[in-house]
Amino acid sequence: MSFNRILDQSLAVRTLQSALEKDRVAHAYLFIGPAGVGRKLTASVLAKSLNCEKLRGHNPCGTCSSCHLIAEGKHPDVQTIMPTKRSSTIGVKQIEELLPIAYMRPISGKCKVFVLSEADRMGLETANKLLKTLEEPPPSTVFVLITERPESVLPTVASRCQPIKFGRLHTESVAQILVSDFHIDQERASVAASLADGQVTRGLEFADPKRLDTVLGLVDELNTCSGKLKASDQLLEFLAEQQQSIQEEAEKKITSPDESATASRSTLEDLRKSFVDRYYRSLINDCLGLLLVFYRDILVLKETNAEELVINRNRLGMIRKHAKSMSLAAIVQNMEDIERASKYCAHYVGEDRVFADLLMGLRTA
Ligand SMILES: [Zn+2]
Repeated sequence: MSFNRILDQSLAVRTLQSALEKDRVAHAYLFIGPAGVGRKLTASVLAKSLNCEKLRGHNPCGTCSSCHLIAEGKHPDVQTIMPTKRSSTIGVKQIEELLPIAYMRPISGKCKVFVLSEADRMGLETANKLLKTLEEPPPSTVFVLITERPESVLPTVASRCQPIKFGRLHTESVAQILVSDFHIDQERASVAASLADGQVTRGLEFADPKRLDTVLGLVDELNTCSGKLKASDQLLEFLAEQQQSIQEEAEKKITSPDESATASRSTLEDLRKSFVDRYYRSLINDCLGLLLVFYRDILVLKETNAEELVINRNRLGMIRKHAKSMSLAAIVQNMEDIERASKYCAHYVGEDRVFADLLMGLRTA
């Protein structure tokens, strides 16, 4: 994996390649941008470039033992530090353990690289520990701090780092990555990418077959009154099931923190609740997004008859059937209703009921 495999981040790539070329790599970088757009990948390529045994221009070869070890996360001079699962923060201990290593000479490579993922999740004490090192940078050591919330990084820490901005990816790039790196079939990848807001991580969530199958399965039931009731029940059942699994995930992720005994039981409970709310809301929003794309496809096919413009290509039969039986006004009305429900769900509680009511009201002719 070299710099030219990093999609849509030409400014970031150019800045780093130019620094490598001039041998003026900064001691610390702050990679700023949303998750799932290539920040970690770029950090890994930078680490490879700094340690590769057979550089090709300023691109790592990808085949030497150093490149292999970095790709596998096993290189002794390249470390990734991320928030612990238990407390969801980078703890003081993690930084304390890292600092003496930062001052040692590289063990097998030429340069030590420390990648701090979610660098905004650091308490004041932890950030101040790191700051000392950034103020007197050890030789042959590069820190890469990654964040999507630069405003939450301690300003004195941020000011010691060279900022590098990462933008959202093009939809086609997300689809391409979903297919090539995650082996998702082309049709599913296209649908997921169209909703992913330029983030591969979001694309992966949308590509979850269960969501798409459930949502579109519901639409198939809407032709009769009893079908609508059935669809509404199935939806509520699906959402309850999903909420349960998000709840279990929250329990696993947010348990008693190891390094800060200060978090009280109620704080933990609040954290869990906000985690569940956030993910549940985002799940509902995702499902509404899938539904919207489906009706968009029906609209496009009805208006243009161009199959190549349909995103849900593997559901062409179903889309054609609806495009034939539905009036243009009904399709547009459904899309407006979905958009309205989506806005409502973003702001108010009772989102599952809103979704179920929406389903009952969707037009089929
Ligand atoms: Zn190499």
